[in-house]
Amino acid sequence: MAVGDVTGIIGAASGILALGVASWAARSARRSADEAAALRAQDAERLADEREARHDQLAPVHPGVLQANFGTVNFAGQRGLFVYLTLPRSYRVRGRGCYSDTSWTDLTLPGVLDGGVAHNLCIESWTQDQTEPRIQHLLFDLWPPLPGDAVSLWSCPCGRPSGETLTPPGHWQMRVDFKPPPRSRIRTMT
Ligand SMILES: [Zn+2]
Repeated sequence: MAVGDVTGIIGAASGILALGVASWAARSARRSADEAAALRAQDAERLADEREARHDQLAPVHPGVLQANFGTVNFAGQRGLFVYLTLPRSYRVRGRGCYSDTSWTDLTLPGVLDGGVAHNLCIESWTQDQTEPRIQHLLFDLWPPLPGDAVSLWSCPCGRPSGETLTPPGHWQMRVDFKPPPRSRIRTMT
C-alpha cells in the first residue's frame, strides 16, 4: 500500500467521524427546537386557558327568572311591564324582547348600565285591552365598557367582540325569562 493510500483511508475515516458529529449536532439542535416549540405551545395554551377563565369570571351573573311588574311607560300614563336587572359591574348592553327565537323588538335602554344598581327596565308597553305579554323572553347582549362611557372601565382579555355599535353578537349573551304579574293585577294593570 502506498503512503498516499493510507492517508486517503485516514482522511475518509475522519470524514465519516465528522459526518457523524454533524448529524448528532443536527439531531440535537432539532430536538431542542422541538422542545422549545412544545414549550411555546404549552405557554400559549396556558395563556389561552387563563384568558378564558378571566372571560368566565367577568361574565354577567344570570339573574334567574325575573318578576315583571306594571309601571308607567310615558308621560301619557301608558302602562307597561318592567323588570329589575342588577349587573355585577358596568356593561354596554343591548336588550331585546323576543316574540320567538327569530322575531324581536329592541328594548329602549341607555346603552351602558352601571354595576351594582337595580335598573328598572321597561320590557313591553301595554295597550288598554292587553291581558298577557306579547314577548316570550328577553335577550341581552353585553360588552365591557369602552373609553368615553361614564362608568368605571374594565376589559376582558379574550378577544371576543367589543360593542362599539351595540351590534350583536355580544361579548356575552344572556337569555332571561320573566314571569308576568299575577292575573288579578293584570285586570287593573297596577
Ligand atoms: Zn371575554
